[in-house]
Amino acid sequence: MSTIVSDTDVLIVGTGFSGLGLGSLLARQGQHSFALVERASSVGGTWRDNTYPGAACDIPSHLYSFSFRPSATWSHVYGRQPEIRDYLERTAVEEGLLPHTFLDAEMLAADWDEQAQRWNVRTTRGLHVARTLVTACGHLSDPSIPDIEDLDTFTGEIFHSARWNHDVDLVGKRIGVLGTGASAIQIVPELAAVAGSLTVFQRSAPYVVPRKDRSYSDAEKGMFSRVPETARMLREKLFWDSEARFPQRLGVPVFLEQMKKLARDHLEAQVADPDLRERLRPRYELGCKRILLSNDYYPALTRPHVQLETAGIEKMTGRGIVTRDGSSIDLDVLVVATGFEAVDLPFAHRVRGRDARLLSDHWAEGGRTLASTSVTGFPNLFVMQGPSTGLGAGSIVYIIESQAKYISQAVDFIADRGAVIEPTAAAEDAYVADLDERSQGTVWLSEGCRSWYRHPTSGRLSALWPDYMRRYREENGSFDPEPYEVLGLSATG
Ligand code: NAP
Repeated sequence: MSTIVSDTDVLIVGTGFSGLGLGSLLARQGQHSFALVERASSVGGTWRDNTYPGAACDIPSHLYSFSFRPSATWSHVYGRQPEIRDYLERTAVEEGLLPHTFLDAEMLAADWDEQAQRWNVRTTRGLHVARTLVTACGHLSDPSIPDIEDLDTFTGEIFHSARWNHDVDLVGKRIGVLGTGASAIQIVPELAAVAGSLTVFQRSAPYVVPRKDRSYSDAEKGMFSRVPETARMLREKLFWDSEARFPQRLGVPVFLEQMKKLARDHLEAQVADPDLRERLRPRYELGCKRILLSNDYYPALTRPHVQLETAGIEKMTGRGIVTRDGSSIDLDVLVVATGFEAVDLPFAHRVRGRDARLLSDHWAEGGRTLASTSVTGFPNLFVMQGPSTGLGAGSIVYIIESQAKYISQAVDFIADRGAVIEPTAAAEDAYVADLDERSQGTVWLSEGCRSWYRHPTSGRLSALWPDYMRRYREENGSFDPEPYEVLGLSATG
């Protein structure tokens, strides 16, 4: 029997925006004991892990930050990774979360103990026991490594974009980048500046639009600091600007056309070569995958030592990549920018609810929840940034704060009633059916659209919230016990 490291009302797994957001709220309320476990040696989630050159947020930082912790010092409209990581580290310190945090404590297994009506969470640092378990593991945590023949035979340096190897000297090297998503388009211009040659392996061409970035002047930062209302007003404006983009995702032609024209004009202005332009033309509906913001991605691809490879990858060899048209491309370094295990979320394979049912089995055909947060058969479990929470347009921090409030109210309810709660199967079914209905007609389910937002076998749009951000908060921002089964605690509770 392992020693119990912590025994609390609430255990939060993960210390990215979600875990720290909920932790901050619980700390400020001061009513419940809680602990955070984190598998890494520091906090920050995806903003700790993604240290690749050029890493920055593509949502303006005055919106992509906690509403209860505005920062007057964002350097640019789009915050850079080091400052976002620093913001999260300061959050952990200043909200008093570090004494509650266990680092280097990876969740190995979480089991609902029906008898004790507690979660037993086994970590690499021992056993944590809690009445309520909150997974705050995110979608973008575990690198997805493509299934390429003989990948392991490559003798050069190979690493994923979210596990950048800063020890590798890239100057003058023959570098390959696999993937052309949000990470790759930030990495490519940086690598083009130092590589001897750079080959970008594209499977699907993304939509790329201008990035309207600029640095904030000292005068502006001073204003945000002295007159916080100005930062609040900017946040409000950025929020509504994001909401105004949602009709594109609904497939409303006039909004789609506006944005497509912007992307087309951008491509035409930046790429003169008709053959390259044609290969960079997206072949799916706008918004199906993330719309990317960059002013330097296309120009990087036009440089003489940079090649765009679109033939597809046949296999890897010790020396590099063989493409489907038989070309061999020798490489010293391969950067794998192929995204994350966002469909079959790895943590769900470690959580067992009532009758030892695995969460990943419950989600075998795509994530199912009530209020994008709780799951039938999994008592006193709340999932942050799991199914039906991702956004095509907007700030995920808004969703996270909505979830944190919902969960904190549920935790109050559990404490007040001495209760164990779980959504009824009927309530979960109705919620899933409603979201499935709402996702019909969106660009995410349009013909030819294949992305990690959709479940590959059921075809359901299981990763995303298919509506406006504000609707998420209106519908799911406050805990309502009505669709829950409420059970009293046992004598041991
Ligand atoms: P991603 O968007 O999933 O893109 C992965 C790329 O790799 C795609 O181009 C994909 O091609 C390609 N790919 C995947 N498997 C492949 C294979 N087997 N062979 C060839 N190509 C393959 O991953 P990401 O760029 O890391 O971004 C993930 C998410 O992180 C984004 O959606 C976004 O939410 C977030 N992100 C945000 C920022 C930011 O600025 N805030 C920056 C980076 C990332 P296909 O398109 O054909 O699938």
